[in-house]
Amino acid sequence: MKLPLVYYPDPRLNEPSKKVGEFSGVQKLCSDLIDTMEAENGVGISAAQVGEPFRLAIIHKDADKSLDGHLAIINPKIFSASRELEEGEEGCLSIPGVFGQVLRHKKIKVRFTGLDGQEQKIKATGLFARVLQHEFDHMDGILFIARASKITKGEKNLDAMKL
Ligand SMILES: [Zn+2]
Repeated sequence: MKLPLVYYPDPRLNEPSKKVGEFSGVQKLCSDLIDTMEAENGVGISAAQVGEPFRLAIIHKDADKSLDGHLAIINPKIFSASRELEEGEEGCLSIPGVFGQVLRHKKIKVRFTGLDGQEQKIKATGLFARVLQHEFDHMDGILFIARASKITKGEKNLDAMKL
């Protein structure tokens, strides 16, 4: 079921999310987040963007060729990040029509809990690393516009990625 998005400048977008402790209900929330992400043509979405303040995000399978389905990420922690940064364009489902250039770590290693409750570790580079860092920022109540330079508004960037 597609859920209504929380839009900037709603103050809920600036609140840090809580760790997921109880996994009952997570399956349903993930399924609703996937429906919402797909309906909005997003590359990723975090629970905070639908008003559920939990450290949970969905990454679209198109974010990386290693993914064979949309990836649910619960309670993530970056345990290693490259010193090398990379600039790239980002948009956000919660801030429609606004885009900007954001510096992100080029490579990261992440530990998280999957939907099955098992801990997993992944390496991510490029777009995948960018999407993850954008969603983890949502979990900390940070929006990309706080990090972005060259912010543009309007319709011309509609093909840029929304996270
Ligand atoms: Zn976003």
